[in-house]
Amino acid sequence: MTIHELRAAIEGGRCDPRQVLDELLERIAQHNPRLHAYIRVEPERLRAALQERLQRGPRGRLFGIPITIKDNICIQDEDTGCSSRILTGFRPPYHATVIERLLAEGAVVMPRANMDEFAFGSSTESSHFGPTRNPWDPDRVPGGSSGGSATAVAADLALGALGTDTGGSIRQPAAFCGVVGLKPTYGRVSRYGLIAFASSLDQIGPITKDVQDCALLLSVIAGQDPRDSTSAPVEVPDYPASLGQSVSGLRFGVPKEYFVEGIDPEVRDAVEQAAKTLERLGMRRVEVGLPHTPYAVAAYYIIATAEASSNLARYDGVQYGYRAANGSRLQAPGSRPPQGDLIEMYLRTRAEGFGPEAKRRIMLGTYVLSRGYYEAYYLKGLKVRTLIKRDFDEAFERCDVILTPTSPTAAFRLGEKLDNPLQMYLSDIFTISVNLAGIPALSMPCGFTASKLPIGMQLLAAPFQEPRLFQVAHAYEQATDWHRQTPAIALN
Ligand code: GLN
Repeated sequence: MTIHELRAAIEGGRCDPRQVLDELLERIAQHNPRLHAYIRVEPERLRAALQERLQRGPRGRLFGIPITIKDNICIQDEDTGCSSRILTGFRPPYHATVIERLLAEGAVVMPRANMDEFAFGSSTESSHFGPTRNPWDPDRVPGGSSGGSATAVAADLALGALGTDTGGSIRQPAAFCGVVGLKPTYGRVSRYGLIAFASSLDQIGPITKDVQDCALLLSVIAGQDPRDSTSAPVEVPDYPASLGQSVSGLRFGVPKEYFVEGIDPEVRDAVEQAAKTLERLGMRRVEVGLPHTPYAVAAYYIIATAEASSNLARYDGVQYGYRAANGSRLQAPGSRPPQGDLIEMYLRTRAEGFGPEAKRRIMLGTYVLSRGYYEAYYLKGLKVRTLIKRDFDEAFERCDVILTPTSPTAAFRLGEKLDNPLQMYLSDIFTISVNLAGIPALSMPCGFTASKLPIGMQLLAAPFQEPRLFQVAHAYEQATDWHRQTPAIALN
């Protein structure tokens, strides 16, 4: 069931939310041991939370509906650990704004979807808790970093989920798992209570079974927040109202830079077919250029690691989570000056608490920010970012949305890219420009490979033009039935 179907059933008195939660928990008990979409589920707490909702309300738009939450979004008094050892035992004393907004609509928040450690990754393999598997083929990755959220939605272990996207972490796993994922415009959704990866790029967004659910969840979580100064003072439109409107006469741009070597022919063909479908719906195809695309991956991995190294400096064993056990040096009285012991504790906590990808990024980020290299790398990265943003500004003068593949390939095998970080980074080649430019983008299913793996396409729009994305995505969804396909696992 989708969220909107369940909502209608609950409102019509045809469905008891308690039964829905029980069935969901049963499915999770059956399939999660293999798929590992959730790192933790506490049935009794969830039942109690639902009971309380049902008794006290509010009877909002998500009344009685469980929504799955990625492990980097703070829930009060609930372990929030970014799937990292270094945050072991960290329980935030407050809710993230998006959590408050879900609760204000009557939702039951459902912890905890697995993720790449600190959202560093494209495969959910870097989680301290071990990898999540793709429900379409459990020998393959679900994408990342929101792989737990995407797998849960695709395998029917969730109604809908929240993920986060810094360079593609909502859209790429949505594509690999055959579901819908949206990265909103930078500033559209409050990040208060989101554990930061790269603050100039991060956004929270929905992962859902269809476009209608995506529009509904965005309308719940979007809007300015006085506690996040980067949230934009832009009114939240009625997103569901843009569904069902004709797309006839709208223009979609196809950037030639996104159809170059390295892209899997099956992916290219599926997106070409999608372009034909959009034309049949009355849209006009225009060719656009995004000439700085080839520099996006390099610019992103300079800017994102620079910001990450700074954001991760706070994990030192003092205030949050994990602290290295006292060693002999810490205990032996008088053997070292106290300050030395403290620094020793920082170093050991960080050495033991962070995984290899987090360490790689901290080192890379620290390096590009260091005196002597700052201008050559970080500053240049920022300049390239401006050029990429301008590419989009110009392209959107000629079209209403841009159509691209979400990822150059379908889901790859577990372990395939783990020892080759550069290969892993390249799987984000079609998603990261969007974060650098701050624009919104939606990924949705547009076909399957011969071996029955989902293929995703991406629709991009100018800042705050999410209604356009929903309009076009919904029209495409109505004209196709990719979103009705479910992995075999979800059928039993
Ligand atoms: N895969 C990209 C990275 O590793 C993007 C991650 C994300 O969006 N959080 O940085």
